[in-house]
Amino acid sequence: MLYNIHKLSYNNKQEIGLSKFAGCFHCLNKFPANEVKSFRSDKHAVCPKCGKDTVIGDKVIKGKFILPFILDKKLFVQLNEEYDTTFGLLS
Ligand SMILES: [Zn+2]
Repeated sequence: MLYNIHKLSYNNKQEIGLSKFAGCFHCLNKFPANEVKSFRSDKHAVCPKCGKDTVIGDKVIKGKFILPFILDKKLFVQLNEEYDTTFGLLS
């Protein structure tokens, strides 16, 4: 489940454009989505606070539906731990 949420931080340029707020699960900051100015490979939102591409918007596109996503700090903390573990396994 966490892995699927982590995937939301990839290829999310369009979703960030639709979102009002965005959050970063690396530095755990929340900010207006229009503060995201750069996109890695022109696809993955880069956090304006910490510079990592671990940003999730408050809107998520599933097929042709746009769904709200709750930017929950507790979830982000979990995701951060999971992400570090996954990253460790990959490297
Ligand atoms: Zn950040």
